[in-house]
Amino acid sequence: MNLRERTLALIKKYSIVPKRELGQSFLVSEKVAQRITELSRVDGLVVLEIGAGLGALTEPLASKARLVYAIEVDPLLCKALREEVLKGYDNIVLIEADFLEVTPPSVDVVVSNVPYSIATPLLFKLARECAFSRAVLTLQKELALRITSKPGTRDYGRLTVSLDAFFSSRMHMLIRKRAFYPEPEVDSAVVALERRPPSYEIRDLDLHLELVKWLFTQRNKLLRSALRIVASRLLPLRLNEKAFTDARLREYMNKRVRELKPSDFAHISNVLKDYLTY
Ligand code: SAH
Repeated sequence: MNLRERTLALIKKYSIVPKRELGQSFLVSEKVAQRITELSRVDGLVVLEIGAGLGALTEPLASKARLVYAIEVDPLLCKALREEVLKGYDNIVLIEADFLEVTPPSVDVVVSNVPYSIATPLLFKLARECAFSRAVLTLQKELALRITSKPGTRDYGRLTVSLDAFFSSRMHMLIRKRAFYPEPEVDSAVVALERRPPSYEIRDLDLHLELVKWLFTQRNKLLRSALRIVASRLLPLRLNEKAFTDARLREYMNKRVRELKPSDFAHISNVLKDYLTY
């Protein structure tokens, strides 16, 4: 039985009705599962899989890794996993929980076919709260492009800049929607994130991430006007007027938000820290 046949058989056996709101599109291409496993380079390592589903990735990962923590929120899928997949392995630990609610274990590699509904909070949780050195994530193609894009391009934005503070990112491959069942509405792509020592200092991470978020609501504006708008909304933070004439910001003020590099945002938030009052 190949992966597609096995998935359909399990769906039938357990009367599973895939839940769109949980991003339940199961990978049914064995070839793609194999390529994701290879990209993850998990030989002998400890892995965290987020959203194990029916085990399409869990099994190939467990056959290489030392240990796989598999998190899955849906009790019915957990039951199927226990009865059909886990029996064959002594190195899979199933955690029946919502990833956003748990303290994840420290691991070497994170692998996930990311549930679309929680993609953004999942990425921020990975960045801020999870100990690992590499993540191999299957995401909606559009999201993958947003993570890996360059300043000035259409896809460059909040996600690109925020995640750059934590990871270097690389787009690896596109996956057609027919590799999943049920088929999602759009194609997907695999992105690898490598944790790296920061290439710039950030004085106040909360402030930095908040500022990036707000500035990108004004992506086409010059920094000067974007800051004016954002400062009036970033309550309860108040931006002292003197910030607008600080020499350290001069070279950025007449650039558009979407043209600023991740390191520019770090510099800007570092300077603005001197001018913000609560
Ligand atoms: N990895 C499997 C399943 C992908 S579908 C495969 O590739 O086939 C995404 C999976 O994430 C679903 O099984 C869904 O139930 C699970 N999921 C969705 N939200 C979750 C959350 N907050 N925490 C843990 N798992 C979640």
